[in-house]
Amino acid sequence: MEKIKKDVEKIWKTSISAIETLENLEDIKKFHSTNLGKNSDLSAILRNISKLTISERKEIGQFANKVKENISNNLKQQEEKLRQTLYDKEDSETIDTTISGYKLNTGKTLSIGSIHPISAMIKLIEDTFAVYGFEIAEGPEIETDWFCFQALNIPIGHPARDMQDTFYIKEDELLPRTHTSSVQIRTMQNNAPPIRIIAPGKVYRNENSDSRHSFMFHQFEGLVIDDKSNLKDLSNILQGALKRIFDNENIRLRIRNSYFPFTEPSIEIDCSCIFCDMKGCKICSNKGWLELLGAGMVHPQVLRNVNIDPNKYQGFAFGTGIERLVMIKDRVDDTRLFYENDIRFLSQFRNI
Ligand SMILES: [Zn+2]
Repeated sequence: MEKIKKDVEKIWKTSISAIETLENLEDIKKFHSTNLGKNSDLSAILRNISKLTISERKEIGQFANKVKENISNNLKQQEEKLRQTLYDKEDSETIDTTISGYKLNTGKTLSIGSIHPISAMIKLIEDTFAVYGFEIAEGPEIETDWFCFQALNIPIGHPARDMQDTFYIKEDELLPRTHTSSVQIRTMQNNAPPIRIIAPGKVYRNENSDSRHSFMFHQFEGLVIDDKSNLKDLSNILQGALKRIFDNENIRLRIRNSYFPFTEPSIEIDCSCIFCDMKGCKICSNKGWLELLGAGMVHPQVLRNVNIDPNKYQGFAFGTGIERLVMIKDRVDDTRLFYENDIRFLSQFRNI
């Protein structure tokens, strides 16, 4: 009986001094289960008191419970103390949330992710045109023939439809949009002039994938409708915007004739090669110019289609592929790289 009491006392004393050395909440949890749980020394002693008399068992039982209670209280106090220290530490420290964490059980730091180059370019385009007062417009990726073609002055059977290989979904009624120009129509239908929007998004073409083509890619479209905007305004805005997008102050534009059913006149806009300053290099095929955008004054029939009076209002539209801009700016030579999710490729764009 006395020996058992001494053993319990010993457990008590060693526990009390051990608790003071516990340094974190995890250790407290472990200590609790090792010293107060079913497999603890204390429980083992209590299991072996069957040889004692009833009154002795009662005395030891009460004593052991008191010891348990004391150990438990001391643990709670220690836990409280540790929590307070943690709170104080958090209060006094500035936490740098940009520091990367560690991979579990390896000690190696986690690699920091980056924004996809296409998303980064979309953001850059949106921020750039916001400077010129453009708002961002969106439209559905599955369109009707009317929004994607007919309203844009491309009637059924028009040869211009051959310029865009289209996936048709259901009896020529629905289709994944082939260009973001459908957003122009939706915006003009729902808003009175003045209109000034930029519409970035995914488009789909029935093309085989190669280094320059993909069945899905991104475009952005710009549209300005008011009572006086003209191609001179378009040229000024684009020159300023491209300087910012390509981070190059020396950019000049060249305008060539073109044809699109939804603009009249239609133009192609080239910019001076940002790599050779027009001296001629591999990127510009020694031409000194890079083909960049399609544009033009919005065709009067397109305005009539959305109930805007072409005698009162006019404006311009422009658009290009977003992949193309990244490919030029960052010298990417294969458009498929954007969709392969290869971290060796994507990690090169951390600084965008
Ligand atoms: Zn060049």
